[in-house]
Order: sequence, then structure tokens, then C-alpha cells
Amino acid sequence: MSREPLLKTVLTPWSIDDAENTYHVKRWGNGYFDIGETGDINVIPRYDQPNLKINLKEVIEEMQSEGIQFPAVIRFHDILRSQVELLNKTFRNTIEEANYEGQYFGVFPVKVNQMREVIEEIVDAGSRYNYGLEAGSKPELIAALAYNTNKNSLTILNGYKDEEYLRLALLGLKIDRNIIIVIEKYSELLKLVTLAQKLDVKPIIGLRVKMMVKGRGKWEHSSGERAKFGLSIAEILNAVAYLEAEGLTDCIKLLHFHIGSQLTDIRAIKEAVQEASLVYSKLFKLGVPLEYVDVGGGLAIDYDGSQSTNDSSCNYNLAEYVSDIVHGFKQNCDLESVPHPHLVSESGRAITAHHSCVITNVIGEIHPSGTQYSTRKSTGEHIIVSNIRELEVDLTAAEKKDNHQEIYNDVVQLKSQAMQAFKLGILNLDELAKVETMYWRILNVIEQQMQNHDFIPEELNDISEMLSSQYLANFSVFQSAADSWAIDQVLPIVPISRLNEKPAKLCSLVDITCDSDGKIDKFIGHDTVANNIPMHKLNQDDDYYIGIFLTGAYQDVMGDMHNLFGRLNEVHIVSYDDDPKDFYIEEVVKGSSVDNVLSTMQYTPAIMAQVIKKEIDVQISRGKLKPREGVNLIDFYEDCLNGYTYLKQ
Ligand SMILES: *Cc1c(COP(=O)(O)O)cnc(C)c1O
Repeated sequence: MSREPLLKTVLTPWSIDDAENTYHVKRWGNGYFDIGETGDINVIPRYDQPNLKINLKEVIEEMQSEGIQFPAVIRFHDILRSQVELLNKTFRNTIEEANYEGQYFGVFPVKVNQMREVIEEIVDAGSRYNYGLEAGSKPELIAALAYNTNKNSLTILNGYKDEEYLRLALLGLKIDRNIIIVIEKYSELLKLVTLAQKLDVKPIIGLRVKMMVKGRGKWEHSSGERAKFGLSIAEILNAVAYLEAEGLTDCIKLLHFHIGSQLTDIRAIKEAVQEASLVYSKLFKLGVPLEYVDVGGGLAIDYDGSQSTNDSSCNYNLAEYVSDIVHGFKQNCDLESVPHPHLVSESGRAITAHHSCVITNVIGEIHPSGTQYSTRKSTGEHIIVSNIRELEVDLTAAEKKDNHQEIYNDVVQLKSQAMQAFKLGILNLDELAKVETMYWRILNVIEQQMQNHDFIPEELNDISEMLSSQYLANFSVFQSAADSWAIDQVLPIVPISRLNEKPAKLCSLVDITCDSDGKIDKFIGHDTVANNIPMHKLNQDDDYYIGIFLTGAYQDVMGDMHNLFGRLNEVHIVSYDDDPKDFYIEEVVKGSSVDNVLSTMQYTPAIMAQVIKKEIDVQISRGKLKPREGVNLIDFYEDCLNGYTYLKQ
């Protein structure tokens, strides 16, 4: 792990540019976030109004004044709308400039964020572009049927399907929706044809092709021969023959592929377009009346701002992505002399990632060298203890002699000897505590002295890591940043204010679950992923709020109930130019209360309260508790049952 040079520059002044170079807000912010002159994070929620800026600290203050407890999710509905517009406009403009003859019919994949408010906003913002929905399961289809009421947009159905799923799809067709049933598995086709004939509906069929090209990134196994979904070329030809025999050739309207999410490398997209346009062209020439090609999802988010092929980044932007698709299809279709198909894409991550963030407060610090213990020399102390004490004295001269490495080697060895001596019963507890205290003190001094050095020996690089603090933040990784835990996804984490002030220490984050996995130790580093992040010193009197950003895709809805913390309080922010602060809180959605989460786990809170009340009554009747005190205790238990699951300030 490379040493973060940041702490070396203690004596230099600090500017907003330095903060930007540390946290890369503009680089991952995609135009929606920056650092203001006051050192607070700004949100610029509308792409078409770059001067409309919302100060995130003011949002937090307003939430506090309304009594909304943290941690909380903040949703910016304008960002959702902006992303829907940008995607659709980019496709439309590129299609026009390229003289492409098909149109764009995008769909939002519901699985990426199923929250009703999110779906409503997306459908509303997309209605002028005939932007539709994609469902991948029966419950998602049931939601899509009720929410995608625009008859000119598409509803694309993916995922494995049982008969009920197919019946629901046919119900949609009966009420004039453009529902395209994508066949993921050959056997679905037989089920569908039987059912459609029975119900006398003409289905609109899509065929998902198992692509040879491999996606790049975490989800590269979504494509290739061993992919879970899709039909091989042989199966596609069989399907075409089967449908022809049933007189249903004209139902085959769409060719679908999806080579994985978060495609980090644009080359994978170029190759997929090449492959898919050929399959489309050849099938068209065989007489399959395909009208649409659906390029699936995969449009990536640059979470770490590095514009690279890192797993949490990508080496292209929206314009390049769209251009490669439109021009790729145009060129190949022209070469094959077939019509340009309508283009469908299923971008989910790219639509929703930016629109929400989690705000939490740091409630404490865990520091390995934080404890003070008297190290005064006692008579007859063990030689190991004396040796370490001498090292501390030598350290004052080390600045001149430049023998930090030697002292470091010695202190590490002495500490390990001390442990062994303790195990053998030679060192007592008091001596061990002294060794520990002096050990950390020495490391601290070495690290301070090294800050003035240009060259730092390899091994000493690790010291700042060893000395870094853990900031304890009021949230659960399992609820709010599931992918950070599950797949090492890097999410941008930044203090909400004080960015005009130089951060004082390197930290990693731990959450409040009783789980040692409940931590975040992957952060945006200088040119690589870092194990810790610079943070400010905690002040006794001020809350220290940090934001976990880009949580709107997947993270928002994948959280689990680990430690029964449950869902977060949520506010929906809408920008409003005429307001002095440029925003208002449109809606507050209360997070889980303790009785909510207990009920989900089959407890009955009312009975639980009765159990406690009975026991308190017993203590009252025995005279061990005063009646008034007893009543207060019962009230307190019930208040906690009704209260928020996270820590109170
Ligand atoms: C998950 C999924 C998507 C969404 O992918 P993103 O990378 O989030 O855009 C689209 N299509 C299908 C079939 C999916 O399974």
C-alpha cells in the first residue's frame, strides 16, 4: 500500500483545491457535486442549471431542526430527472447526428432501485422520451404494470419466468402495453406459446443471446458460454424454426443481450455491439422480422473518479458509450444492407447511482496508541522494559543520525520479546502495559520525524497505517453500503463540511454493528485504492458528519437486517430556485423503528412490553421499586420499542 503523502505536508497551507485533490469530489461527482468556498459539499442537482447549488450542510441543519435523526438517506429527485434526460437526449442527439434510422426506447431496470418514489420520478421524467421499465421478476412485473402506463414506451421482461409471470405479461398486452417477453431459457418459449394460444393473445417476443464476448469487471461471468441466461446460437435457430412452425415468426421483435453490470472497459461494449449487430443482421436476412436490439445494462459509474478500468471506475463517459452503440450498429447494418433497428438500453446504475447518499455522524474514535499509562521506571524492572525506555531516549537524537529504521526494527523486536516473556510469566501485567505504551509512543515520534524526510524507507511506510484511527460512524455497512462489504466496491466518502480545513489524521471507518466485517477500509486514494482516508480531528462540541455518496444504485435497496438496524430515515430534496436555500424537503420517510424490525422477525412487541411490565410489577410489590420509578421504566422500554434503531445523539 502506498503511503498517502498528505500527512507529510503539515506545514503547508490548505485550500479548497487541496481538498479536491484529496477527495476527488468533482471527478466522481459527474457535475452533481463540488466543494464550496465555505468548505461544505455542494449539490448541483440539475445538469441544465449549473448555478443552482444546494449546500449539503444546510440540508442537514434543516433536517436537524425538523427532528430527523441520523443516519439518514438524502435523495435528490432532480438528479434522477437529470440523468433520465441526459441519457435520452444523448441517444436522440447521437441518432440524429449519425442519420441513424431507428429510434431509442430506453427502459429502467426496476431491480436497481425499486423504491416507489424512485420509479415514479423516473417514469415521469422519462414520459416525454417514451422511456419505459424493465422487470426481472414477478413482483417487479406487477409493479411495472401499474407504473409504466405510457402506451408508447416499452416494458421489457427478463429473468426466469413461470406460468403466472407469463400470464401477467399477457394481461399487460391485453391492456395495450408494449410488453416484450424476453426468452432467457428455451423451455420458456414452449410455455409461452401454449399459454398465448390458450388465451388468444399474440405475444411480442425477444430472444436473449448468450454472447461470446466477455464483459470486463466484476460481472464478466454474465456473458460467455457459461452464462446463466440466454440462448446459444443453436437454440436461437431452433426457436426461430419452432415459432415459424407455430405461425408466430412475426412475433419475434427484439434481440437482447446483457454482458454484465459496471463494464469498466469501453472495448467490451464495442465488441458486444459488433457481435450483436452481426447476429441481428444475419437473423434479419433469414426472415426474422426483428425491430429492436436491446443492449442491456452495464453503463458504468466512475465511483473512484480515476477514469480507469479499475473495478470501481470506467474508461469512458455517457457520450462515448452512446456513440459506440449508435455508430457501431449503423456501420454494421449498412455493411450487411439491413435496416437500422430501434435501440433499447437498460441502464440502471447510471440512472440512479448519483441521486442518493447516506449521511452519518462520527460518534467516536478508536485509536491504537490513544491510551496513556504511566511508564515510570520501577525498581528491578525487566531488561526488556529498560531497553525500550532507552530506545525512546535515542529517538531524540535520531533526527540527526537518521537511524529511524534501526530504532523501528529494535522496537518491533522488543515488543514481540515482551509478549513472549509475558506468556512465560517473566513479565507482569504492569510491565506489559508499559511496553505497549512506549511502543506506540515511539512509532508516533518516528512517524512525526519522518514527515520532514524526502525519502522514507519501505518498511516505515507502514507506520502511518498502523497509527491510523478508526472513526466509529453511526450506520451499518450491511444496510447502507452492502457492496462495500460484499464485493469491495469503492464508494466515495467525504466529510460534509470543514473541507477548507486541513484534515489531521488518517482513518478508516467502523460501523455500529457487532461484526468485525462492519467496516469500510477501501477509499479513493491518490492513484490507487487506499486503506484509509484523511479526516478532521473530532471536536467535543461539534457533530462531524460524513457522506457516503453514489449509493442510489443497488446499495439503496440491497441492505439487510444485520443486528436489526433496518432502514434509514429518508428525506427527499427538491430544488427550488425561489427559496433562499434553493431547496425544500418534499417528503420525509421514517426509517425502521425497533418494533418494525422485531415484528419482521416474528416478535410481538406488545407481548414483550407486557413481560417487562409484569416483572417490574413484581419488583414493585416486593418493595424493591417505587411505583413511580417502575412506571417510568416501563414507559422507557416502550419508548425504545417505538424509537429509531440507530444510536441517538
Ligand atoms: C441488472 C441488469 C441490468 C442493469 O444493469 P446496470 O449495469 O445497472 O445498468 C440491465 N439488464 C439486465 C438484464 C440486468 O440483469
